[in-house]
Amino acid sequence: MEQPGYPASADPAFNLTGGPAGATAATLAALGRPILHHLDPAFGALYQRTVQLLQQAFGTRESPVILPGEAVVGLEAAAASLIGPEDVVLNLVSGIYGRGYGAWARRYAREVVEVEVPYDSSVPATSVADAMRARPDITVVSVVHCETPTGTVSDLDAISAVVAEHGALLIVDAVSSFGGIRCDFTAWQAGLVVTAPQKCLGGTPGLSLLHVSEAAWAHMTANPAAPRGSALSILDWRDAHLAGRPFPFTPPVTDVYGLHACLEQYLSEGADAVLRRHRAAARAARAGAEALGLTLWARDPLVRSDTVTAVRMPDGIDEREVRSRARKDSGVMLSGGQGDLARIVLQIGHMGTGAYPLGPVIAVTAISRALRSLGARADIGAGVEAAVAALDA
Ligand SMILES: *Cc1c(COP(=O)(O)O)cnc(C)c1O
Repeated sequence: MEQPGYPASADPAFNLTGGPAGATAATLAALGRPILHHLDPAFGALYQRTVQLLQQAFGTRESPVILPGEAVVGLEAAAASLIGPEDVVLNLVSGIYGRGYGAWARRYAREVVEVEVPYDSSVPATSVADAMRARPDITVVSVVHCETPTGTVSDLDAISAVVAEHGALLIVDAVSSFGGIRCDFTAWQAGLVVTAPQKCLGGTPGLSLLHVSEAAWAHMTANPAAPRGSALSILDWRDAHLAGRPFPFTPPVTDVYGLHACLEQYLSEGADAVLRRHRAAARAARAGAEALGLTLWARDPLVRSDTVTAVRMPDGIDEREVRSRARKDSGVMLSGGQGDLARIVLQIGHMGTGAYPLGPVIAVTAISRALRSLGARADIGAGVEAAVAALDA
């Protein structure tokens, strides 16, 4: 008999993916506001206020940059703007996003060297130090904080210390970590950090949010190849919030409304409370997935992300089938493996709106139901019990 399902035409009841994750109610309400002209003083004031809130959230001395374009635009812009024809880049690869960054770096650098590790681990700071000793001419290091498809994190505290000691600049992809995992841009002495609203902040995909350190601005200004008059130009958007500065081009007005709303929410909840919420959801997702009978992708607990959990499928089960059944029968949208990990690995996102207590419980239930309908074993009761116990721990 056909199970009562969830209509394919409907919104998923639960977006528990590796992002874009769902937007908060406050963000959604803000998106419905009338469209102001970008030169309307009311928009100017809102934009300026949004930059101030972002700076507060980043906890930095420098004004952040809001670059129009989904996070990948900000990441490519960082490579185009910061990496010049004289630069030697050390690209750290512990997953698919890191591998992709190498392609951008090669487009602009004199040379790119890479340290690559298996995608269930992350590059140790000692390997970074070794690589930099071997190549004292390295000027820029690029690293992904959280590799979303595999749910692994790099130790930015240790890596940034090595990079700073060497006097190089750091490009950090913090798209799926900022707002879910502690990020200390100042202590990291990071050159340039790229994040976005649509993962941990409960905002929309459409903007890149950049912290650019003083050293990174200096390097970028001195880079003769840094783009100007281009969608990839970070220099064009520097201080765009200041009164009397024309925008290089029209900012996506509605996305700015959404960003303003989700930052207000983030700041009023408080960074520490937000991190605790992500940590609790992560604990629940891991405990629930293991108790229902799945294996976590990353064996080392120290590299497991608090924003997304990657799980291995049982032998003979294709994660695409599990996801499609979870969506169809339970109204739960999950995300899956990419590249070599397609069919094998499934992600439970617990970021932003997914990082609420029962998010992982719902994911565990939907996955169990899907596994059973595919003829695999899944202990739903044990999964739910373990997830709830982890929340209450
Ligand atoms: C989501 C994400 C991005 C942005 O990429 P999209 O594929 O455009 O969503 C970049 N880096 C990481 C680590 C991400 O999780």
